[in-house]
Amino acid sequence: MPGTLLANRKIAITIISIIILMLLSMGGAYLGGLKQKQLMDSVNPQLNPSISELGKLIQKGETPEVLQHQLKILISNHEQFGDLFIINQDATIIAAKDTNAVGLAYPIMFTSNMFKGLPLPFAYKKSEMPPPSNSYTVMSNPNLMFKVFGSYKAPDNNLYHIIGNYHVSSTINEQLDRFGYYTMLCMRVYHICFILFWLLLAIWVYQDARRRPTNAAAWGILTLFTNVIGWLVYLIARPMLSLCPNCNQEQSNDLKFCTSCGALLKSCCTECGGELKGEWEYCGSCGHKMG
Ligand SMILES: [Zn+2]
Ligand SMILES: [Zn+2]
Repeated sequence: MPGTLLANRKIAITIISIIILMLLSMGGAYLGGLKQKQLMDSVNPQLNPSISELGKLIQKGETPEVLQHQLKILISNHEQFGDLFIINQDATIIAAKDTNAVGLAYPIMFTSNMFKGLPLPFAYKKSEMPPPSNSYTVMSNPNLMFKVFGSYKAPDNNLYHIIGNYHVSSTINEQLDRFGYYTMLCMRVYHICFILFWLLLAIWVYQDARRRPTNAAAWGILTLFTNVIGWLVYLIARPMLSLCPNCNQEQSNDLKFCTSCGALLKSCCTECGGELKGEWEYCGSCGHKMG
């Protein structure tokens, strides 16, 4: 079946192209994320040591009053802060620039943390969002950049997050937007490639198995569910094919005649037609002496 063979080669080439595209888009997303992080870190590098000082107080298990006091000092030392909060793992505000916010919920949409290092601190379901009635109204301003500065574990094992926003120049804001869009685009391409790769690998196995004396559908389904594992098992277990010496088409090893050209694929006894092995001097089936 030369048509099947050709189709399978096309699938294989497509799979390789998809893998290359997958690696490129993964690298692109990584670089995009890295660039965003660099930009964000470059904005106010002097903020980081002060933030980690506050983080150390959380780790020591200091009282909310102490944290509130230190947060106020931190804000007064750095004018670029629009807002600053310490929230607990239920998004309740423990300390804030605006002391009226303490006890209310920070209106944050926690999404799953797909990339480590990007400012998405923890996985949270939408249903677990704080109720709007108890939420603090956070001012929105395009020149303020929201950031999770750090997450710190207190001695009682509760996790606290220092979050807030600070002023950034419109140039940096534009750059962040651009790299954010670029990263998202790369991730989309990666996801599409991943799905295509998954499906095509199963199709490749199915098409390859169809040319061999084996259950092609079963191998295809196995690969559809286990992907690379099924593919590897198939590569080890698949019955071998050999080339027809007459027409060069791949043929299953158990065939006596080529299915493409009809040529005899095995040496056979002239007397009984039984299959012969190279070194035999007599036919193993009828005992006929070889020439
Ligand atoms: Zn042939
Ligand atoms: Zn014979």
